[in-house]
Amino acid sequence: MLSLIVPSCNEEASIPLLYNRTTEILLQHKDLITAFEIIFVDDGSNDNTWPTIKSLMQEDERIHGIKFSRNFGKESAIFAGLNKAKGDCAVVMDCDLQHPPELISEMYEQYLQGYQIVRCVKKHRNKEPILRKLCNVLFFCLFDSSDSTRLSIDNASDFQLLDRKVIDYILRFQETSLFFRGISAYVGFKTKDIEFDVPERVAGFSKWSYPSLIQYAFSNMSAFSSKPLQLVTFSGIILLVLAIILTIRTLYVYFMDAAAPGITTVIILLLFIGSMLMFSLGIIGFYVGKIFEEVKHRPRYIIDEEK
Ligand code: UDP
Ligand code: MG
Repeated sequence: MLSLIVPSCNEEASIPLLYNRTTEILLQHKDLITAFEIIFVDDGSNDNTWPTIKSLMQEDERIHGIKFSRNFGKESAIFAGLNKAKGDCAVVMDCDLQHPPELISEMYEQYLQGYQIVRCVKKHRNKEPILRKLCNVLFFCLFDSSDSTRLSIDNASDFQLLDRKVIDYILRFQETSLFFRGISAYVGFKTKDIEFDVPERVAGFSKWSYPSLIQYAFSNMSAFSSKPLQLVTFSGIILLVLAIILTIRTLYVYFMDAAAPGITTVIILLLFIGSMLMFSLGIIGFYVGKIFEEVKHRPRYIIDEEK
């Protein structure tokens, strides 16, 4: 059996469209995919997402639903779905049909050929503002230089098929803030990438604002990489070298009885060192905050209703 996991946040308009198109396509491939279930995870929507899921559940027993008590974020929704999935493999896909259900059969074929992870990689990012594209490139550059192996996931998406063995391993990860794409790249296993064009959203709006994207990016990067902390040490070393050069110069000027260097240098240095210190403290503080979050061991999500 194949489990489809669909994180949904304010998707009342997309859910029926996704359901109709996906079931239609899966029925066309009945010989290949003999059984399936669809798990909708309502991530704290404030529209009619949950009633829509409930009415689908009454019509079709292959549909299951989880309703979070509030918004816990897409990653938590994905993990709640993986936890509930009963399939021999699971496909995670967006609710807005930006992950074309037509690809599921191709992913499944790769799975039958022995691939344990099949990832769909975005070929072109349609109609995204330049700024978002830039942020994306920057994020994946930083991410790619992170400590863990096999994280070259530029243009990766959450549209992925995971084998049961992979799911069971991923569910063992204890950290509160899990980054799905990062974890699925981290666990290893036989992986196949399929390219796809991202269509436009069928209905509703994207949930991302720039502040939330930046926060998401930092939080995911810090979950995998301690490079920013090394950056602090590195900038400290550069400042030390500069300080030594400047000290030698100042002493030289002093002993040669020349005029004392201007106050401008002192002000610039003070400002520079001050801001560097604050910046470094910020990075360290961010990691301390992360540790604080993790040691609390709070649940990743709280379920209000489940069927
Ligand atoms: N989503 C979610 N919780 C959130 C934000 C988004 O479950 O807090 C779901 C959303 O319903 C959709 C998927 O994650 O199914 C992708 O979200 P969106 O289309 O807003 O992101 P984008 O495609 O712009 O990256
Ligand atoms: Mg989308």
